[in-house]
Amino acid sequence: MSSHPDLRPETLAVSLGRPPRTPGAPLNVSPVMASTYVGAHDTAAATTLGYGRDGNDTWTALEDVLGALGRGRALTFASGMAAASAVLEQLAPGGTIVLPSSCYLGVAALVQSRAEKFGWTVRTVDVADTEAVLTAADGADLVWLESPTNPLMEVADLPAIGAALRGRVRTVVDNTFASALVQRPLEHGFDVVVESGTKFVGGHSDLLLGALTVRPDADADDLFADLAAVRHDSGAIPGTMEAWLALRGVRTMPLRVRAAQDSAATLAARLAGHPAVSRVRHPSLPDDPGHARAAATMDGFGSLLSIDLADAGTAERFIDGCALWTHATSLGSVESTFERRRRWSAELPVVPEGLVRLSVGVEHVEDLWRDLEQSLDQL
Ligand SMILES: *Cc1c(COP(=O)(O)O)cnc(C)c1O
Repeated sequence: MSSHPDLRPETLAVSLGRPPRTPGAPLNVSPVMASTYVGAHDTAAATTLGYGRDGNDTWTALEDVLGALGRGRALTFASGMAAASAVLEQLAPGGTIVLPSSCYLGVAALVQSRAEKFGWTVRTVDVADTEAVLTAADGADLVWLESPTNPLMEVADLPAIGAALRGRVRTVVDNTFASALVQRPLEHGFDVVVESGTKFVGGHSDLLLGALTVRPDADADDLFADLAAVRHDSGAIPGTMEAWLALRGVRTMPLRVRAAQDSAATLAARLAGHPAVSRVRHPSLPDDPGHARAAATMDGFGSLLSIDLADAGTAERFIDGCALWTHATSLGSVESTFERRRRWSAELPVVPEGLVRLSVGVEHVEDLWRDLEQSLDQL
């Protein structure tokens, strides 16, 4: 709920979500392990917690930080997909949703299955084509965007789209790839931001968590209440220990994100110069289709990039030839990971067979480069 326009993200991440400063108080909120709370006779008193699904002080501390970073008010969930489901729950049977033609596979699959069950119309768009997005949004009930997209790294013009659609249609951005440190869609008029806290917020590959951030304005009060009610009623609540670990993680998130995206830009430039790499997809590169737009609308270019190698076999040999990088899915952690995306049968055919997505961590960039380079040299 907090709004601290005068404090910078590094400061917000460290200073919010703390117990009141009284002598003898701990600096950190503890994990509150409680399924039930002492009862009140007046159950209508909204401030009283009764049961573990109603709320938890450890979630609240994390939500104070995430809300401030995203310039809205946050609700944490059991996972990114639980948060995404709560938003999709708002779309009535027969409704129309706009979805990126290439986006996070879990979201695409969930929308597809619900569309069949509830008679939704799904309009897919290239998020980088602003005109196409606005045309598809006409008469739709929900516009779901992702930028940069997974794993093709296409960049949407979020300021233009947010300004054009505000108040006309419910709008959502999956901001997992960028994180609130790199872009804040609520500031551009989007209604809801979805984030998989499993990635940059947690940052250590040891938990699953999700978050929704909703615009702070009064006209979004009902939406916030609806989403909180879905979390409560569906039981998609975060675990206390997960919330506590994520709160520990978010303290260093600005440092981690900055280090990782600096290294990602260095690696992108060097990879682009290697003869075994036919294409590097990262908006830091001057000839990337998303470069000018990302430079104008994002605080940095993010720490995910993709490279195109000749074919699936070449990509597998490249992965096997590296020792420091870990072959694993997911992203946004301290350790660098990579994967050939088409190893997943559900991955879209527009993604090349030889595409490898890299999630750059916080190891020394020269060590990361040496590992990649020696494997590329052997292809
Ligand atoms: C990981 C991810 C999700 C899903 O989050 P979980 O925490 O794994 O449920 C959604 N969107 C994007 C872009 C992701 O990377």
